[in-house]
Amino acid sequence: MNKPVKQHLIDPEICIRCYTCEMTCPIGAIQHDDNNVVVDPDICNFCMDCIPVCPTGSIDEWRVVATPYSLEQQFEFEELPEQEELEGSADGNLEALDDAMAALLAEAHSGAGGKSSAPKSAAKPSVNLYNLGKPATAKVQGNYRLTDDPSHDVRHIILDFGGQPMPALEGQSIGIIPPGQDAEGKPHLPRLYSVSSPRDGERPGYNNVSLTIKREENGLCSNYVCDLKPGDEVQVTGPFGATFLLPDDPEARLLMVCTGTGSAPMRAFTMRRQRTVGGKSGGMTMFFGARTPESLPYFGPLKKIPAALLDKHLVYSRGEGPKEYVQDRMMVEEDKVADLIADPKTHIYICGLRGMEEGVEKALTNIAESIGQQWVAMRDVMREEGRYHVETY
Ligand code: NAP
Repeated sequence: MNKPVKQHLIDPEICIRCYTCEMTCPIGAIQHDDNNVVVDPDICNFCMDCIPVCPTGSIDEWRVVATPYSLEQQFEFEELPEQEELEGSADGNLEALDDAMAALLAEAHSGAGGKSSAPKSAAKPSVNLYNLGKPATAKVQGNYRLTDDPSHDVRHIILDFGGQPMPALEGQSIGIIPPGQDAEGKPHLPRLYSVSSPRDGERPGYNNVSLTIKREENGLCSNYVCDLKPGDEVQVTGPFGATFLLPDDPEARLLMVCTGTGSAPMRAFTMRRQRTVGGKSGGMTMFFGARTPESLPYFGPLKKIPAALLDKHLVYSRGEGPKEYVQDRMMVEEDKVADLIADPKTHIYICGLRGMEEGVEKALTNIAESIGQQWVAMRDVMREEGRYHVETY
């Protein structure tokens, strides 16, 4: 039998095919085909550079194997293989390797992200139904501007899938393939966007999906999408993502923390709850940060949601008042947040700018301390129970 070795794998069910890991790997060990993103066992040197950049934690999978899974095998994976039973797993060298890896992983995991699991009651998501080789063709149904700030163009794009199934759940993402080719003459890779509509469609009973997209200066795909006209056809991959999902338990309470277009999944969650519980208490609390009211996506519709359904805290960093970030308001609302994090029915969702993670973690650490708890321990339990979700770019 071969000496067991550690192998780095990517979970194809959770991976959202954003290719950030592939672009980050300094030695070209990560590649993709139409179906999956995979790690070449002959090249990967466990440098861990790809771990912290992954928005979903799907990159963080390790197996001890007698023979590494080949690239061909990994391209065919629909789900990750279980850890196989190995005779040599007490091997001294392997343990030494494990210690070194554990230290590297601890470092890579020092952010608030890391591996998460789906809420236990979440519906089973479909993933990778449409891929690079076989994308869906959607028709643009609408393209509406969501912000009044002339320098901050955020769009609500509605895509109709006609007869093609697109079973996207709230919290999942889809990929848009920009037309044309890159500098090397290859087709562009899809760009990932969180869906902002609920599972039964932007309009209930219609096979359509909405996205919330900010026009980025020189952004290849964001400019393409923000300029789309009704009737235009778009190539779409996905859906992707299997953890940042809504619990189907109507008793579950949601603490949603977002910045800018990171509000997309929160809109989907809120609409799903609104459609399922009607005007009753939705058990949802939201901290939503933007530069100004004029640059906050969905400002008008959000204001109209009854407080009983959604307890919303809109905060502004460049508004008329003092600069405020979501984590500052969480501290102001310390008692509310403490009540939520102490409740085993609470699920936390954090989405938006990567930079917000640290501040939100600090706020949660302080708030947990105020009730005599250690946030890191609470967070680990929540994550394991599928109640703690971070998706930041
Ligand atoms: P933005 O307008 O640049 O920022 C939104 C707000 O966040 C601003 O008030 C900004 O304040 C504030 N902010 C900046 N640094 C912060 C920090 N360290 N802690 C807390 N708040 C902070 O946002 P955007 O351009 O819409 O970008 C949203 C981000 O979400 C993008 O990076 C996008 O890729 C990401 N996103 C992620 C997902 C996902 O994960 N599924 C989905 C959609 C979008 P100041 O600028 O005034 O400092």
